[in-house]
Amino acid sequence: MRKRVLKNLKCKYCKNHILVVFSCRYVYLLCNECGAEFKISDYLDEIDEETWDMISRRSCDRA
Ligand SMILES: [Zn+2]
Repeated sequence: MRKRVLKNLKCKYCKNHILVVFSCRYVYLLCNECGAEFKISDYLDEIDEETWDMISRRSCDRA
């Protein structure tokens, strides 16, 4: 499982930075501060290219 901080995204509840957490099967967003989880679709327009790239290139061969 890999994690990446998304500096331009803010938690809808506490306004702190959120992380994108992804493995080969799923991707979700996690608030570093309050632990709230969000779907990718909640932040669709705010996720940067580099992150999309990492999400789309994730593979299952490294568990
Ligand atoms: Zn939060």
